[in-house]
Parts: sequence; structure tokens; C-alpha cells
Amino acid sequence: MQKITIAIDGYSSCGKSTLAKALAQRLGYNYIDTGAMYRAVTLYALENNIIDDAENIDVETLLKALPKIEVSFELNTKTHNSDVILNGVDVERDIRTMKVSGLVSKVSAIKEVREKMVALQRQMGKKKAVVLDGRDIGTHVFPKAELKLFMIADPDIRAKRRQTEFSSKGQYFTIQEVEMSLLKRDMADISREESPLTQADDAVILDNSDLTREEQLEFVLKLIADLQFISREEQSQH
Ligand code: C5P
Repeated sequence: MQKITIAIDGYSSCGKSTLAKALAQRLGYNYIDTGAMYRAVTLYALENNIIDDAENIDVETLLKALPKIEVSFELNTKTHNSDVILNGVDVERDIRTMKVSGLVSKVSAIKEVREKMVALQRQMGKKKAVVLDGRDIGTHVFPKAELKLFMIADPDIRAKRRQTEFSSKGQYFTIQEVEMSLLKRDMADISREESPLTQADDAVILDNSDLTREEQLEFVLKLIADLQFISREEQSQH
């Protein structure tokens, strides 16, 4: 069947990456976690004291360093997921902290950072057969993607999911702390100048507040079959 590009955008902690990974695995596609790329640049800035304790970014120094920041993905043979690699080091774990989450929207709002990441994303996705999740995939990175999803979910549910994810990694926060951080990030992402988070006109909205992972996967596979990019047999294969 025809290989397509699947763009998944939406608010923070709506389960985009969980769905994107499941879809990629089911279809034999590549998965590109574009948020991980912005997180990696943020980690670089933190590790190189480009962000100070008051959370101010030295943009000039960051822009000078930009050509030295290499971000890529590598298959982790233990987890079978793609880990993000920053200048040769696997930073998959280090980019998922509350500290990085709290700063990433500031870094991702910088035009030159976005230009570099978008160029990489387009390069990685140019052969199609790819699922990308992020904030500007359907609107900017791959505006001609054959399937665009825009994911939403109740903020309380999103915060609960993110809190569980943090605590599974030994990071403990109250629901209020997590929800505040999510909403602050959403606000920054929708209000920035460069490619703000917004729903593409031709995106299908998926509210997964009350859907299981399986139900979400089934919903999207049906969409893909309806668009005739996979057959009915492929849709129902387990
Ligand atoms: O998806 P994730 O929560 O890991 O994304 C982290 C941050 O990276 C987002 O809050 C946003 O600021 C930025 N991002 C972006 N464009 C993307 C993906 C992520 O600006 N395509």
C-alpha cells in the first residue's frame, strides 16, 4: 500500500507519543518525536550554562553554539524505542525532567532553533512511511501530510497521566504542580510567534480523555483504511 506521512499535533501530555509509537509499530513506520529534539537543545543549553538560575536564556551564545548541537535518534535495543542522542550521548532520560519541561517552550520559541530542527525533521521524514508528533507538524513541517491528527484531552486527565509518568521515573510532584506546568507550556506554545501550536484546517480532532490506547489506535487505523492507505485486512490485523 501507499506509504504516507502521519502528523500528530496537540497540547502537552495528550498521549501523542504513545499513539504515534503504537501506530508506527503497527504500520512498520518510523517514529519521530520532535518534542524530544527541542528538549535535547534545552538540555544542551542547561548543561552549558546558557540558561541561568533565573531561567534567562543567553540567546546569542545559544545561536553561536547551534551548529555544534547534533540531535539524532538511535534504536534502544532494550526498550525497542528510539532514544534521542545529543552530540553522541543518549539523553532520553535526562530530557524528561520537570526542569527541561519547564524551559523547553522558551527554547523552542527561538526562530533559529526551530529552523534547524524543522530542517532535520523534513530530512528524516522525506521518504514517508513516518509518524511525527509535535506542535507544528501538520501546519508547518509537513503541511501536505496525508493524515493529520490534532489531539486534545481534559487538562485534569493530562496532568494525572504526566504525574504518573514522572513518578514512574522517581520524580514526585503534586497534581497542581504538574497541571500548572502543562498549562503554562501550552500557553507559551500557542502564543509564540514562530509556528505556534494550532490545529491544521484539515486535521482530524481526537479527544482521548476517555479512550483507551487500543481504542485510539483502532480509531486511527480505521481513518487510514477509510482513506484507502491500508486495506481492511491490514486495519484489523493483530
Ligand atoms: O512533545 P513534548 O512535550 O516533548 O514537547 C516539548 C516542547 O517542545 C513543547 O512544549 C514545545 O515547546 C516544543 N515543541 C515544538 N514543536 C514541536 C514539538 C515540540 O515547539 N514540533
